[in-house]
Amino acid sequence: MNNLQSLQYTPKDFKSDQYVRWCPGCGDHAVLNSLQKAMSQLGLKPYETAVISGIGCSSRLTYYMNTYGFHTIHGRAAAIASGVKLANPELSVWQVTGDGDCLAIGGNHFIHLIRRNLDVNVILLNNKIYGLTKGQYSPTSEKGFVSKSSPYGTVEEPFRPGELTIGARGNFFARTIDVDLRLSTETFVEAGKHKGAAVVEVLLNCVIYNNNIYQPIIDKEFRAERTILLEHGKPMIFGKNKDKGLVLDGFNLKAVKIGENGITEKDILIHDAKCEENILHYKLATMEGDLPLALGVIRDYTTATYEEDFTNQIKEIQTKNPVRTLKDYLLSGETWEIK
Ligand code: SF4
Repeated sequence: MNNLQSLQYTPKDFKSDQYVRWCPGCGDHAVLNSLQKAMSQLGLKPYETAVISGIGCSSRLTYYMNTYGFHTIHGRAAAIASGVKLANPELSVWQVTGDGDCLAIGGNHFIHLIRRNLDVNVILLNNKIYGLTKGQYSPTSEKGFVSKSSPYGTVEEPFRPGELTIGARGNFFARTIDVDLRLSTETFVEAGKHKGAAVVEVLLNCVIYNNNIYQPIIDKEFRAERTILLEHGKPMIFGKNKDKGLVLDGFNLKAVKIGENGITEKDILIHDAKCEENILHYKLATMEGDLPLALGVIRDYTTATYEEDFTNQIKEIQTKNPVRTLKDYLLSGETWEIK
């Protein structure tokens, strides 16, 4: 091991010398800090890490990382990240993307990255608006949302990132909040450890065009009652007094109060993020309304990655195929001499 390989890099080592140009108070600042901390905690090395982004406010993050990076074109970050990972599977590859970049313009690339299960970590910054272009509704804006491009309210149903990820047969999905640096760092670390495509949705505040949209859920006053932090192997309990939990009611999840109607802690579901079956993960990822919003790692199931299968296939073909070099190839099959 040489000196460079044994170095432990700090969050500061992942900071570039570029001036950060987001609006003061934008949630992107907190995400940048959490990501740099997570990379340090994962023991990553800047020269073995690549951050790929598309277009949008959040996609500027690439400039602020002292890693390899590529600020690409709108919606194409997933395609470029896939190519980077396949070309050099040893790199730790991170895609940073907004809700418009990832789920509208880049929607197709996103679902295929997930389906193929390339080992790419997707940090999806969801502020439910196009900020860079000054406030048009995005594919995650709620139905009826009034914006510059929907002055009478949208008439379309939004995408829910967790639903889309699990629907595309995704094996890792987590959710965090921009201002919760600890939770964001923890979920980024878990995404980084996961082998395969990992999606972390960050509930992000755009102070300029969509301020405080998550406040009714994440405000200190309500957060304990309106969110649940899921931890693998632990009962799904929430509430200010830790007296509420989730149970199954037929095919659906239901919130119950411990101590009422004979409910004890033993009745509360235990979170199993690592099971292959994804129905309960889907239910957890889409909780809203009377059910608390799920935070933390919701699904974390490991299976073979695309690049493993791809590399193994090449090796297998190479051992079986008598064609070893370009010259062999050119002289194989139908060849003829020109006299
Ligand atoms: Fe952040 Fe919104 Fe400003 Fe963009 S417009 S940098 S998302 S606060």
